Amino acid sequence: MNAQLREILSRSQAAFLGLAIGDALGAPLEFMTTGEIKAKYGLLKDLVGGGWLRIKAGRVTDDTEMSLCIARAIVAAGGWDLKGIAENFAAWLKSRPLDVGDTCRKGIRNYMLKGALETSFNQWDAGNGAVMRILPVVLSTMGDGGECERQVIAQAHLTHNHPLSDSACICLGKMVQLSIQGHSKPRLRKEVDALIEAHPGFRFEPYKGLATGYVVDTMQTVFHHFFRGKDFEDCLVNTVNQGGDADTTGAIMGMLAGAYYGLENIPRRWQKKMDSKVMDEVTVLAERLVRLSPQWEP
Ligand code: MN
Ligand code: MN
Repeated sequence: MNAQLREILSRSQAAFLGLAIGDALGAPLEFMTTGEIKAKYGLLKDLVGGGWLRIKAGRVTDDTEMSLCIARAIVAAGGWDLKGIAENFAAWLKSRPLDVGDTCRKGIRNYMLKGALETSFNQWDAGNGAVMRILPVVLSTMGDGGECERQVIAQAHLTHNHPLSDSACICLGKMVQLSIQGHSKPRLRKEVDALIEAHPGFRFEPYKGLATGYVVDTMQTVFHHFFRGKDFEDCLVNTVNQGGDADTTGAIMGMLAGAYYGLENIPRRWQKKMDSKVMDEVTVLAERLVRLSPQWEP
């Protein structure tokens, strides 16, 4: 394996590990306000248990679990497999997950009852439930921007069909691919500027401080803390301490900052405290996914 591929592989793994760590770090803060977080933790910098889910420290939630469903389906099929993804979502929903978003549940039930692989447009589908799980597709389409765009939207439409969700998926997908390829923040910023030009609601300067499950608020929070952040830990800590949908903003920041800063920048103390089964599986899956991509020419 040449040095460039080694770098791409390691950043892909960092992105998937980062997603899981961000999810686990944010989970106990989900639905809390910044004031409540400050009163209880000061600034939360470590993996703890608790929150409304009464989660165990280092455990992940639906954000990582749905990403795993997608990753396993693509790896099992050796490529894109929308029906396989829907089947894995259905099996996951039946397993009574710790947490599941309303829009996701509705979309998965729509597949279970009618076999539908696409929900119709719904004005209430502008939540962040499709963006949080795009990473496996981003990895398996590395080097093919057009295919990445097509697949992030197809997986999104299993549960979320809304132009704001679609645009956020496409923009984040490009940012993560560019990060894995070693591009700079100014280059990534151009993707965000293009998103804002198409949908001015995503403007994040000045930052409004909202981190709800509405995809526009979610992405503003991620953009704000990513472009000011100085390393993986800084980006992630500031994001989850914003509260609101903290596990999901954390998961999204984790994949982006993981891809951007790489494995060496992910604090050891977090890696050690995470559920080791999840850490092992995402490491293996990230490699299998990126090996399926057009970028992989050993
Ligand atoms: Mn979650
Ligand atoms: Mn969430």
